[in-house]
Amino acid sequence: SAPILSVRDLRTSFFGQRGEVQAVRGVSFDVHPGEILGIVGESGSGKSITCMSILRLLKASGRIMGGEAHFDGQDLMALDQDDLRDIRGNKIGMIFQDPMTSLNPTLTVGEQVIETILRHRKVTRAQARARAIELFELVRIPSAAERLKSYPHEFSGGMRQRVMIAIALSCDPKLLIADEPTTALDVTIQRQILLLLKDLQKRLGMAVILITHDLGVIAEVTDRIVVMYGGLVMETGPVRDLFATPKHPYTRGLLASVPDLRDDTHRRLTPIPGSPPDMAHPPAGCPFTPRCPHAMHQCAAALPPLFGEGQGARCWLHHPEAPKVTGLNEVAA
Ligand code: SF4
Ligand code: MG
Repeated sequence: SAPILSVRDLRTSFFGQRGEVQAVRGVSFDVHPGEILGIVGESGSGKSITCMSILRLLKASGRIMGGEAHFDGQDLMALDQDDLRDIRGNKIGMIFQDPMTSLNPTLTVGEQVIETILRHRKVTRAQARARAIELFELVRIPSAAERLKSYPHEFSGGMRQRVMIAIALSCDPKLLIADEPTTALDVTIQRQILLLLKDLQKRLGMAVILITHDLGVIAEVTDRIVVMYGGLVMETGPVRDLFATPKHPYTRGLLASVPDLRDDTHRRLTPIPGSPPDMAHPPAGCPFTPRCPHAMHQCAAALPPLFGEGQGARCWLHHPEAPKVTGLNEVAA
């Protein structure tokens, strides 16, 4: 099927005291109807900025330097702010890490859901209220009608995130963008929210982009994964292939730092040593070079392309003529 969202060579920079900071350096991916795409990377990898660029929600210091984003037949880069506002919260729903900052503490959650529905749909207040109850039931908030009267602080973190999901779903979006939706929650609640998202995605047939720094969190719920580092896509492919045979040294590093929950005695937690590149001075070559155990001479000199179809990896090791014994060509990192 044709993608619902298609992003090509997206470039975004921020301009400030440090000059130009290249946060996104040419990102391409597709999201198909009814699939969950995971975008994974450490903080600062450009994953949130990518989605904020697509929605044209950048801070004043941010500028889209190039690229394209097509959503449901529309060119997002060409739309004016009115049309964009209509798409955001109508055709594209959004949820963020901290529901407390998105909810108004002085209004009941019911009023906030009802207001959102009335803003986007020509319905009566009573119809909007009935829809709000339906939505609370959909996200499995117990005693839905009763809980509409509660204020945000009367909910637990997990329940607040369910309210945010209900608001995001209120206008039947074709795409839901969830940016670290479970990061502030404890592990059991994280899993419940992710399984809820998966279930909703199946039942409503929408597409979902799930942004996270934690590869372990999304293994169970995503269909495909995009791994970002230094503003670039480093590896992309079906989640099963990525976990079974990660091709990129950075993906392997991320996988090694996923705790093995089945085995308490040997929790594998090996964070990748070193820090991400300074995007005010992006390296000419592979941005992972200083941290990569397989770095070769050419790695620092030239940026590798994405090698491979289906499962692609931006790494010189996958060049057809790369030395089979990479150790021969290693440089001191
Ligand atoms: Fe490592 Fe080189 Fe591959 Fe970059 S291109 S990940 S430095 S081997
Ligand atoms: Mg972020």
